[in-house]
Amino acid sequence: RFITFEGGEGVGKSTNIEFAAHWLHERGFEVIVTREPGGTEIAERIRNDLLKAHHGETMQPLTELLLVFAARAQHLLQVIKPALERGAWVLCDRFTDSTIAYQGYGRGLDQTTIHALKELVQQGLEPDLTILLDAPLDVGMGRAQRRGQSAGEETDRFEVEQRAFFERVQQGFQALAASEARFRIVDASQPLADVQTHVVMLLEEWV
Ligand code: C5P
Repeated sequence: RFITFEGGEGVGKSTNIEFAAHWLHERGFEVIVTREPGGTEIAERIRNDLLKAHHGETMQPLTELLLVFAARAQHLLQVIKPALERGAWVLCDRFTDSTIAYQGYGRGLDQTTIHALKELVQQGLEPDLTILLDAPLDVGMGRAQRRGQSAGEETDRFEVEQRAFFERVQQGFQALAASEARFRIVDASQPLADVQTHVVMLLEEWV
């Protein structure tokens, strides 16, 4: 089973993935938790480059798109496919839907180009289930900011994006969820216990 978790900033993807992994593990399944961009040594190096503020030079949206897919090719071949082939569950924090939402809806890159790269890299492989954690922008961005402050993190370039950018990203996710049957939307502004009850309900359909 290949399950992806999607959503904007601070919607609780990592908390809920850890919870889902624990739930599945308790039921005796082999579970792999991974993330994008990243999930292998090479792909994590690409992630670092994507997240770093490049002083003086702005990364071109097309460069960003190609790097995200380069990381994904490595991750799919090295981690995701082998795990699925041996029957493990793969829980992935972001996948191609994030590329469509961030680089497509957010940065305005052409969807045809994105879909061509998706086809090239995925060769028909799709998640069985995609859980979209959706919350009003202010809820998620407030959480993301508090997390950054308490961790003393350096401001990465994504935190200085304009609100309009994140609005387009959220609309992108919602449009995807409305058009792809593998999507389920979970209201991430509810108390965590309610979010987790919903996540379990969705997993139960696949065990
Ligand atoms: O999943 P996480 O929130 O840690 O992602 C790190 C950052 O990478 C986010 O701020 C997100 O905006 C950005 N990102 C992106 N394009 C992607 C995936 C993630 O801009 N395709």
